[in-house]
Amino acid sequence: MDTSKYEAVIGLEVHAQLQTNTKLFCGDSIAFGAEPNTHVSPITLGHPGTLPKTNSKSIDFAVMLGLACNCEIVSKNYFARKNYFYPDLPKGYQISQHTTPICKGGVVPIKIDGTQKNIQLNRIHIEEDAGKSIHDLYETDTCIDLNRAGTPLLEFVTEPCIHSSDEAFQYVTEIRKLVRWIGVCDGNMEEGSLRCDANVSIRLKGETKLGTKVEVKNVNSIRNVKRAIDAEIKRMIELVENGGAVVQQTRSYDVNTDTTSSIRDKEDANDYRYFADPDLTPFNLSQEYISNIKSSLPTLPNDLAIQYKQEFGLNDYDASLLCDDKSIADFFNATTKFSTNYKAITNFIVGPIKQYLNENNLSIDEINLNPNTLAELVKIIDEGKVNFSVASTKILPIVITENKNPLQVAEELNLLQTNDSNEIEGWVNTVIESMPEKVIEYRKGKKGLIGLFIGEVKKISKGKADPKIVTELLTQKLNS
Ligand code: ADP
Ligand code: MG
Repeated sequence: MDTSKYEAVIGLEVHAQLQTNTKLFCGDSIAFGAEPNTHVSPITLGHPGTLPKTNSKSIDFAVMLGLACNCEIVSKNYFARKNYFYPDLPKGYQISQHTTPICKGGVVPIKIDGTQKNIQLNRIHIEEDAGKSIHDLYETDTCIDLNRAGTPLLEFVTEPCIHSSDEAFQYVTEIRKLVRWIGVCDGNMEEGSLRCDANVSIRLKGETKLGTKVEVKNVNSIRNVKRAIDAEIKRMIELVENGGAVVQQTRSYDVNTDTTSSIRDKEDANDYRYFADPDLTPFNLSQEYISNIKSSLPTLPNDLAIQYKQEFGLNDYDASLLCDDKSIADFFNATTKFSTNYKAITNFIVGPIKQYLNENNLSIDEINLNPNTLAELVKIIDEGKVNFSVASTKILPIVITENKNPLQVAEELNLLQTNDSNEIEGWVNTVIESMPEKVIEYRKGKKGLIGLFIGEVKKISKGKADPKIVTELLTQKLNS
């Protein structure tokens, strides 16, 4: 089957749950994991006579994200009712924005195979979440938990400008990084605080008209966004190649079968009978308010990476790894106050430290490592007291869990490197004597063998021989 003549067109809708304390229009808590139906005041339930009141924190958060994505911030806003019936929607309408999304346009730059591509946003708007239908608790009954109803959401809507599942993957990764960085959402897709619906269509390459789209829902990890899109593109191409036509549908992705299946056909556009919510006053954003929000924004990850490259001489790769996560970047920044060996600090952070955090599902704030302790560790390497491999595999794990002084750990575990030439000479001699054939080969010109000798000295000295002196002594003896 010739799939190369088709082009995929993808537009993503990402919902981010805002980390406010309370709901969008009332004081109910939005904490995750509470007893079902305990955060449900009459306002959440939409009882007659109740009056919603806008949580201004969610507006701040929306403007922060809008500025971070270079959107136009709309100054005259109102909330609209989007009317529909659904069991988890107690009011019978969702309060959303309609003709005036708070942020218009905007771009999210991503990197694809090293080159930058700008993903165009259509808008970012504020809306409230619905409750949750729980289908798997009882065999025949569905339960409704309305705790989530009324939770503030930001919806990021892209233009249909994404053309592969890899681009979609990078885009969602970037959005997650950004919302976490600015501190407006925890970005946890498994718990549903970040959700992604993928609109997918295909068309023949060169065609400019959009094909019929399908909306794929229920994708609960970034990896599954990629897999769901791939599965849907494959299904569409097979369908069209076999003479069929794509119909406009909402589909659901099943991880186990790696396929999508139809939830419902969308023959006509739903008529939600939008109108401005009469209980909520329109809100205007002044230029002064917008500039205050702007000045409260932290340096954004891409800008910080550029700064790190210039200020600390880091390469592109290291700088962007450090700027994947704000707490990591902050930790790096704090460590530079105690050590100027920026490359070594970076190596520790993006290498063994990140690995430890990933394996234990921890953030850098949750471990016992302090910036000055990491700087100490780098210092004892620079002073030749231990080497990087001993420091990262033997000392670091103890420093991380017990917050002990690195030098003390090295002493207690007898890991200190020696620069005592006599002792090192002993190891060097032993190695040279134990490998006479290799010595002959080396002397005949196979100079690359030096690495083997160094490795042997490292082994028998248990990593304690100062590699600089080892290399010096070995070269001296082998060349004489
Ligand atoms: P709807 O009214 O069905 O929600 P919108 O026009 O609001 O559709 O678009 C929702 C999302 O779908 C946007 O991200 C948009 O870029 C994307 N989209 C729209 N049309 C297509 C298409 N033909 N193929 C792929 N994505 C599309
Ligand atoms: Mg939509």
